[in-house]
Amino acid sequence: MKALRKQKPMPGADLVDIQIPEPGEHELLIKVKATAICKSDVEVIEWTPLVASANYDLPFTMGHEFSGEVEAVGKFVKNFKKGDRVAGETHIPCGYCRECRTDNQHICTNHMGVLGRTVDGSFAEYIKIPEISAIKLADDANFEHMSLLEPMGTALHALQKAEPSGKIVAVLGVGTIGLMACELAKLLGAFKVIAMDVNEKRLAHSLSLGADIAINGLNTDLVKAVMNETNGQGVDCVLDFTGNVKVINQAIDILAPTGILVHIGMVPESLTISNYMYRVVYRELKITGLYGRHMFKTWETLMRLVNSGKINMDAYVGMVLPMDEYEKALEQFNTINGRAILIP
Ligand SMILES: [Zn+2]
Ligand SMILES: [Zn+2]
Repeated sequence: MKALRKQKPMPGADLVDIQIPEPGEHELLIKVKATAICKSDVEVIEWTPLVASANYDLPFTMGHEFSGEVEAVGKFVKNFKKGDRVAGETHIPCGYCRECRTDNQHICTNHMGVLGRTVDGSFAEYIKIPEISAIKLADDANFEHMSLLEPMGTALHALQKAEPSGKIVAVLGVGTIGLMACELAKLLGAFKVIAMDVNEKRLAHSLSLGADIAINGLNTDLVKAVMNETNGQGVDCVLDFTGNVKVINQAIDILAPTGILVHIGMVPESLTISNYMYRVVYRELKITGLYGRHMFKTWETLMRLVNSGKINMDAYVGMVLPMDEYEKALEQFNTINGRAILIP
């Protein structure tokens, strides 16, 4: 089968022919019908210092946002059969470590598998995943839309930490997941959503998806603008998708006392927050990281929201193209609105 693989520790990727994987006793073999390109896949292809420092074993098949159809099941698989439509959770927990046993299996600390990194991913005609990581979809599920569940789950998990109901939420960075966060925040009852980015097209898109205010951080002072919009009080929650040190410092300053900052963006540099005592400690701010989706609280709520038909899934489809043409998607990655979806 065709697979897009990372074979060498340097920029680039290779479209190669490899064996179709054999599902283990507890695994599903899935025919991948649609698979989206995440910013983190682009980082793997570019082999940024952040990715290089993770020391992944090479080679591996990239890709982790996908949907597909079950092709075969292992002999102990009980809940899926050939023909079922499925999506997949990217994290593969051990099931035995302290995190796994205390309701945090999505951040398993015992060699957690990560699709498209430590375990062969979805940029391929077939993928195998454990039964526990599979999410059953409706029989008429739209594969392109359902390949976006994984990143949408990340946006939802960030909001589950921020608890946006009745609150003012700032979404810093409205790439695809940031856009999803704007729409979901409103759906979950946020009083006001403030979007910030440096790309006018994305900002306009955020307004159409429910953001109330869009701030271009390139030509507007974010802190002043937010204070103006909130009667000098600041926001209750900040979701940071930028990972940018300057923006994260602004995030601290736009938070009202006791507010929460959720980090989702990758932070490639050391982070310095000056005057931490007065800006963070005495103001009782909460700061949390985020890695993936809660298994499976996030997925349960996500499927309820998606199945309600209230989410504008089309808004997140930037382009759809055959996997062979992945280079076209990479060229346009920073300019398209929404995800580039590959069809293997
Ligand atoms: Zn991703
Ligand atoms: Zn574990």
